[in-house]
Amino acid sequence: MEQISTFGASAYTIGNINLFDGISDPVVATLLDQCAIVRLLKDETISPLHNNEACVYAVLRGALGNTLIDETQGIRTEKILPGESVGELSVLDDIAHSSTLQALQETELLVIESGTLWRLIDEADGVARNLLRQLSFRLRAANAQLRRREKVGEFYRQLSMVDGLTNLHNRAWLNDKLSVLVEEAHAGKRPLSLIMIDLDHFKRFNDEYGHLLGDTALRTAAGVLSAALRPSDFAVRYGGEELIVILPDSNGAAGTMVAQRLCERMRLAVVFADMHTPLPHITASFGVAVLAPQQDADGLLAAADAALYRAKQAGRNQVAV
Ligand code: GH3
Ligand code: MG
Ligand code: MG
Repeated sequence: MEQISTFGASAYTIGNINLFDGISDPVVATLLDQCAIVRLLKDETISPLHNNEACVYAVLRGALGNTLIDETQGIRTEKILPGESVGELSVLDDIAHSSTLQALQETELLVIESGTLWRLIDEADGVARNLLRQLSFRLRAANAQLRRREKVGEFYRQLSMVDGLTNLHNRAWLNDKLSVLVEEAHAGKRPLSLIMIDLDHFKRFNDEYGHLLGDTALRTAAGVLSAALRPSDFAVRYGGEELIVILPDSNGAAGTMVAQRLCERMRLAVVFADMHTPLPHITASFGVAVLAPQQDADGLLAAADAALYRAKQAGRNQVAV
């Protein structure tokens, strides 16, 4: 970094700096005239502190990269172009922000020391007004970025709760939500049914038609569930070829009826490899459980699993309670 001039002795004018836009106050000119102009070579860095104090750098020519490191956003670099400035916040709140300033090309900067900026604010209303406007722009941009990040976060959270093959809820979703649904049912003294479903002889299906067509069959099975349920019900891919349906506000009779209906539709569903070669039908076995008093989510899952085992033992393609 090399000091090449002062502002007063240079060809630059107040009009070159956005912070002083529209200001013709002679006090401003006098104060700025004493400020140093420094030149940075490409890639040269400059400390955010000048003589150990926060200061503002206004870019007169070239471009400055401002790399900010913060624990929530990681590393990002903003580009400061001629007319723009950096460091105002550090002067105002007297906190040195962790940033690295580096010339992206040969660059000339006006150095406005902390004391000078405060005098400019005190003595020229226009400077305070411009500063406020700049800060409110930055606040708005930061808020917009936060909102965007929240949305992206929510998007990925939702995505991580969905099974990629079937588009049903996945096991992570179940681990999150089942205990909540169980608690709500207990608290509201309302029934809750859970149906555990396992495709029959699915290993055989895969062996015969290949894993890819097995996937198609799994998607068909998931489609049968999605199409048959109320919006308040939930369909989950529990693992492999095991699916779960959760029916809030449904007692054993309702749960069994739904399971019977799903069993029937599964039997009738046609798995298409393509339009010319329909694959054989798939069937599934269904175990129904109703939430018992004091039972927790694991207890409910175990009860449905035991019922499913009975349906398999009794010959598959059927419902057991
Ligand atoms: P059962 O009637 O007793 O349930 O017999 P099964 O063959 O369905 O039972 P088993 O648990 O022995 O086999 C499950 C099969 O499901 C084996 C596995 O390859 C298949 N499977 C699990 N996940 C997937 C998947 O994502 N895609 C495909 N194509 N097959 C899967
Ligand atoms: Mg299985
Ligand atoms: Mg199976």
